[in-house]
Amino acid sequence: MPVLDFLEIAQANKPTGKQDTFELFARDFFKMLGFEILEGPDRGQDGGRDLILLEKRPGIIGNTEVRWMVSCKHKAHSGKSVTDSDEQDISDRLTAHNASGFIGFYSTVISSPLGRKLEALKLRGYEVLIFDNERIETQLLENSKGKDIARRYFIKSFTKWESFQNEPANLFNEYEPLRCKYCEKDLLDRKIIDESIIVFVEDIKFSEENNYEKSKYVDIYFSCKGRCDSVLEHHYLQQNCITKWEDISDIIIPNKYLSWNMAVLNRVRDGEDVYTDEAFSKLKQFILKVSQLVVKNRSEEQTERLRQLASIPSYL
Ligand SMILES: [Zn+2]
Repeated sequence: MPVLDFLEIAQANKPTGKQDTFELFARDFFKMLGFEILEGPDRGQDGGRDLILLEKRPGIIGNTEVRWMVSCKHKAHSGKSVTDSDEQDISDRLTAHNASGFIGFYSTVISSPLGRKLEALKLRGYEVLIFDNERIETQLLENSKGKDIARRYFIKSFTKWESFQNEPANLFNEYEPLRCKYCEKDLLDRKIIDESIIVFVEDIKFSEENNYEKSKYVDIYFSCKGRCDSVLEHHYLQQNCITKWEDISDIIIPNKYLSWNMAVLNRVRDGEDVYTDEAFSKLKQFILKVSQLVVKNRSEEQTERLRQLASIPSYL
């Protein structure tokens, strides 16, 4: 499954003030790979938006320089592949830029006719490279410089992916799983977290009596989406309660985790939400256990300091 969502990069043909973002992204991408940028997207010639790169190849008797022309096509918003009609007059453009290599930098895949057209270009002695969405992603996630770029251009999808990469933090004396109320699987397990939810069980009568301006939560449970949840939901429906759920995989995104916690606090402070003791205790359990995936590991020194303070959390 792809990690980076190219829809996060603004569409090229809409005058949003951000329509050059894909080209700027390309510039940063090729800089990271070690190319020198001779002409950036802001100095595009002939109305085109091609980048011109210089690659220095070390050899025994000195460096060889290869000039590349990069053609950027950001079609992720239409979801269409890059076709041969998107790439007109490639060899003329290469000649105009005095380039001996062509790079297609695309946020979707290329069509087979374009693939054949590029093969023909190779036969004529040009070098050809294609970076489609998948290849761009692989390059970015491979090293720390690439990850910095991904973080800048794909803030949402990258941070989400990143939070799954880390092992749970060593917050507590030992790892605390968050169990599905029905099947007891650990919902924080990377393999199933995309299907994990937190469910708030609300007293319908209480809402009615308060003109739906207040909610009373009689319980909170954690479960897998689908069968586990429907069994549990059914049980509460019979008790005149309704349920509201949220994806745990969203809540573990650090920014979201903070704003989610703030929202919970604000609603309690404003008297909009009332919790039974049981529901409130589950809420605290949730916040603590999920934090293992949100906060970073503590260092050796911090662990030592915690020992000195004798304050290793014991409030689970
Ligand atoms: Zn389950």
